[in-house]
Amino acid sequence: MPYQIVQDIYIYQSSIWQTNCSVILNEAANVIIDPCYFPVEIQVIADFVNRKKSFNKYIIFTHSDFDHIVGYQQFKSARLIGHEEMTRCDREVQILQMREIDQTYYVNRKIPFIFPEPDLTFGSDLRLSLKEDELMLFHAPGHTADSIFIVSAGKKVMFAGDYLSDLEFPFIYFDSGAYSKTLDLAERLVRDFEIENVVPGHGELAQGKDEIFDRIDSDREYLVNLVEKAQDLCIRGLQEHEITEVLKGIKYRNEPIVGAMLKMHEENIKLVLKEMQSL
Ligand SMILES: [Zn+2]
Repeated sequence: MPYQIVQDIYIYQSSIWQTNCSVILNEAANVIIDPCYFPVEIQVIADFVNRKKSFNKYIIFTHSDFDHIVGYQQFKSARLIGHEEMTRCDREVQILQMREIDQTYYVNRKIPFIFPEPDLTFGSDLRLSLKEDELMLFHAPGHTADSIFIVSAGKKVMFAGDYLSDLEFPFIYFDSGAYSKTLDLAERLVRDFEIENVVPGHGELAQGKDEIFDRIDSDREYLVNLVEKAQDLCIRGLQEHEITEVLKGIKYRNEPIVGAMLKMHEENIKLVLKEMQSL
């Protein structure tokens, strides 16, 4: 079932990865952000959205990871919006990962998945005016090259894509420097637009300034820790496997990183070491 966070804005959370699909319904448009994940879940969202006839229909992708784009075909005649980098992402990788998950869980998609081709793309930012509200889209690279933030100025809500989750430390698929600049952008947007709710791609929303800044700070702390420690150990002349061992012990929100999350942390370590080598 969806829950309404403010007037006109609803969140549907998938039973896989607590992935959030947001819906904005108002007089001017129906907007769906990240349609996901299982076909039955998406159908429920589509039925809900279709009850409200609207001249403009938009689907906005916060980025091109398969778990955020997979349901778009179940919404008819919507204009697809994404960052221009989305047209250059590695589609094959996303399709393969999606197929693997679908095979593992016997997910039957009646409409064969085709990678979405955005109708509207943008570079640094884009504005969509809705009646009595304005959606502002900002490029927010770091997690992926094509990640974006979406701000509803009127409702003081920010949709953060795969940033600022209560479930995940930063997953850096693209670039650690860009990631940290994007956290600065998040902080600026939250202040400038007096954001009261942040909807992450996965997990619970951050409500109120304290919780929002707490998430920004803990993600920043993790990044700084990772990058600075890596540089320091490198200067001290440690070998790559030794550096990796030390970095594995980095904590997130004062907790050691263990289990399935350790694999993601190791991927971050690999990426940061690669970035250092290419300097
Ligand atoms: Zn995701």
